[in-house]
Amino acid sequence: MIDLRDVTKEYPGGVRALAGVSLHIGAGELVAIVGPSGSGKSTMLNILGTLDRPTSGTVHIDGHDVGRLPDAKLSALRASRIGFVFQHFHLAAGTFALDNVADGLLYTGLRPAVRRRKAAAALERVGLGHRLDHRPHELSGGERQRVAIARAVAGEPALLLADEPTGALDSSSGEGVMALLRELNAAGTTVVVITHDREIAASLPRQVRMRDGLVVDDTALTGASL
Ligand code: ADP
Ligand code: MG
Repeated sequence: MIDLRDVTKEYPGGVRALAGVSLHIGAGELVAIVGPSGSGKSTMLNILGTLDRPTSGTVHIDGHDVGRLPDAKLSALRASRIGFVFQHFHLAAGTFALDNVADGLLYTGLRPAVRRRKAAAALERVGLGHRLDHRPHELSGGERQRVAIARAVAGEPALLLADEPTGALDSSSGEGVMALLRELNAAGTTVVVITHDREIAASLPRQVRMRDGLVVDDTALTGASL
């Protein structure tokens, strides 16, 4: 599903956020990315998600050599195959849960009625079938994140990338979100989760640790849990 080879990322001003990362993630995996703040986790996730291109190295996602894809093809790959979940939900304020999710399907070219039907099904799937006509400020943090997850998976992506999805939640809402990510993974989605939470990381089948822009530990290679 994911293959990074010797990936570096330098930001203007000479910040070297990734210093040569190689990482293979197979289809169907559930992987935690851990490491201190500033170690390059979000930069790597953005590159995995094709939101950003590396300075050097190669990135293969879902069989495509990302560096060789023109922007339009890259956008199509991202829209159809990759879902994103962020710490602060990124929902449209004042917009019903149903429309927040349905708008994530705009790229599909599906008719509005079909988009809304799929959105309702995704919200059912995350346990929010009774909150379709609630706006973000009428939902709890955990519910907002579940709306965001519904939006991320409504188009049935092969790959779900989550950057600190429980970082803004109390522990019980966080557990609910993690249970949902596990369920989606069990149903076949490849899931990569950045987390600061040691317990969450330890509970996932594979952990990748980053420091100073490098992968310094990967339980898929060492066999031992971090
Ligand atoms: P993490 O997610 O592990 O906290 P990041 O990937 O966000 O780390 O950041 C890695 C390094 O790159 C940090 O030193 C950060 O300050 C820097 N960085 C991140 N994004 C940018 C940017 N857009 N421009 C310049 N430097 C950045
Ligand atoms: Mg980050």
